[in-house]
Amino acid sequence: DPTAQRRPLESIQVESPNLTYAEDALYAKYTFHSASVDKVQGQDGHVRYQVKPVEKHLEFKTERKVPKTGLMLVGLGGNNGTTLTATVLANRHNISWGTTNGIQTPNYIGSLVRASTMRLGVDSNGDDVHVPISDVLPMVHPNDLVIGGWDISGVPLDQAMRRAKVLEYDLQRQLAPLMAEYKPLPSIYYPTFINANQEDRADNVIPGSDKQAHLEQIRRDIREFKAKNELEQVVVLWTANTERYSLLLDGVNDTADNLLAAIKNSHDEVSPSTIFAVASILEGVPFINGAPNNALVPGAIALAEREGSFIGGDDFKSGQTKVKSVLAEYLVNAGIKPRLIASYNHLGNNDGKNLSAPAQFRSKEISKASVVDDMVASNHLLYKKLDKKKADSADGFVKGASTETPDHCIVIKYLPACGDSKKAIDDYTSEIGMGGQNTLAIYNVCQDSLLATPLIIDLCLLAELMTRVTYKEEGSKDFERLYSVLGLLSYMLKAPLTKPGRPPINSLNRQRQALEAFLRACLALQPSSDLVNFTQLN
Ligand code: NAD
Repeated sequence: DPTAQRRPLESIQVESPNLTYAEDALYAKYTFHSASVDKVQGQDGHVRYQVKPVEKHLEFKTERKVPKTGLMLVGLGGNNGTTLTATVLANRHNISWGTTNGIQTPNYIGSLVRASTMRLGVDSNGDDVHVPISDVLPMVHPNDLVIGGWDISGVPLDQAMRRAKVLEYDLQRQLAPLMAEYKPLPSIYYPTFINANQEDRADNVIPGSDKQAHLEQIRRDIREFKAKNELEQVVVLWTANTERYSLLLDGVNDTADNLLAAIKNSHDEVSPSTIFAVASILEGVPFINGAPNNALVPGAIALAEREGSFIGGDDFKSGQTKVKSVLAEYLVNAGIKPRLIASYNHLGNNDGKNLSAPAQFRSKEISKASVVDDMVASNHLLYKKLDKKKADSADGFVKGASTETPDHCIVIKYLPACGDSKKAIDDYTSEIGMGGQNTLAIYNVCQDSLLATPLIIDLCLLAELMTRVTYKEEGSKDFERLYSVLGLLSYMLKAPLTKPGRPPINSLNRQRQALEAFLRACLALQPSSDLVNFTQLN
């Protein structure tokens, strides 16, 4: 039984008075350092910044026992759903396959948790020591995930995998008998939310139009899956078609109670993805939205806060946008001013087919566009504040933009012959010194589902971990759960969902640093710093 051992070997031992190893948990005392800044305009007109270092004394508790975990995908029969299931099965059963280049063995390349390392510290020679992220704290192994989920298309996963045209024939051939055992549960289908061209797939739907009954069915599905597989934890993840945005309506989806009432009344603007989110929140299992649609409407966020459930979103950050979040940061942090970012995509999978209608494309456009906002906002030397009149007329993507923004356009075209290979062509044109210009032209070809699959794994493993970490401030009695919106998952997400009113962090570097800082804090270690390299200290 590969899932028998629920407490993985911990290969890192921290010797510190601040870290206590108890039988059930790690207790880490941690001082969080930050700076509080007041911007003051003096009488001479000069702006001065008054900075006060702030210290918060915290304690983190990390449960050491790794729960038997299930991953329920909404969209199990799609390209991502089948590729994820196939990847886990191939790894679990160690299935190799023949390709034109020779024998290929399974792996989790592309997963931050399973295939990347972090710098733990230095050894006695002063050399860096790196460890796999998966070794830093006790985490679920993806081979142990019990996979299930829903799809409006009912074909078993061997056929769905064939339809997806992602994996090599020899691998499909070997996996087919294992994949055939997976059959998606019937799902919720409200045709106005996805492209009309998806209708012929919808042969596996929960009957009727009573949204309350649909909610209850999904809740039952989660409970039954948990019971049947003897699971201690379940993560639900939306990797189904991109829906159009739900209209945000006062009295409908603005508060937790209004949203619950809107479901009871089967209001038109409650989408399937919101029902899955609400079902997960009410069942107390994490829900992650891997598509750009606004599944997590304000009422759903408020409900998660009220129930103490975990949510994360939106939209996997797999290819072009990941590059954009790195490039925009590099340029702006180098003092170079991107003036124009044009992103053209063509793809030929079912996701592309669904995105070929304006309403679904618009969801994707919004999610892809927001990624440079915080970079622009971080540098007022390059991007000037706009006066109020100009701001109101600014034709930017940022609503009510108060600063200049680069011209930014996103185009997605469906070209079936492309298959699951997405081709993205980007032009970054920037202003450089003395009125000069620099153009970076990027051509990015990526096998979409093979990039998205490791992100799904990371989202699941990290979300599960975050359910086991609690914290308290010095002096308080009880440990509290982390905040419901799991902002620490942003590294994997294009349009990170945040606490209402808080700006998202899009910079890939900052997202990774935050994750590393969190993992280290749970071991009572301060964030890694290179300061020592610039001094004569050892
Ligand atoms: P896909 O079209 O192959 O799969 C989606 C699946 O969802 C289909 O099998 C469809 O039948 C099913 N579905 C639609 N509505 C449903 C519902 N209400 N309930 C249950 N199932 C439903 O698409 P994909 O390539 O697997 O991508 C999945 C999602 O992930 C898309 O929304 C896409 O925009 C998003 N995404 C993908 C990537 C990537 O790199 N692959 C990156 C970012 C976001």
